[in-house]
Amino acid sequence: MSANDDLIEWNTHWRLAAGIVSCKACKAQQREIDRSAPFSHHPGCGQAAKSGLPWDQLDLICHTFKHAT
Ligand SMILES: [Zn+2]
Repeated sequence: MSANDDLIEWNTHWRLAAGIVSCKACKAQQREIDRSAPFSHHPGCGQAAKSGLPWDQLDLICHTFKHAT
């Protein structure tokens, strides 16, 4: 899987706008300042199992991008 595929995958679950990541499924939000805390989805969100750390995931993808070029 390429970094581009990873970014597309990330974008299917998350939305990034104005320094806030939001879950596309439940619209729960997390500011970058809270990035070290596990993402907190709203109850019943189908993406809850994927919570993790979306900011870290994005950093990892962008890091891969930088080193791929
Ligand atoms: Zn969610």
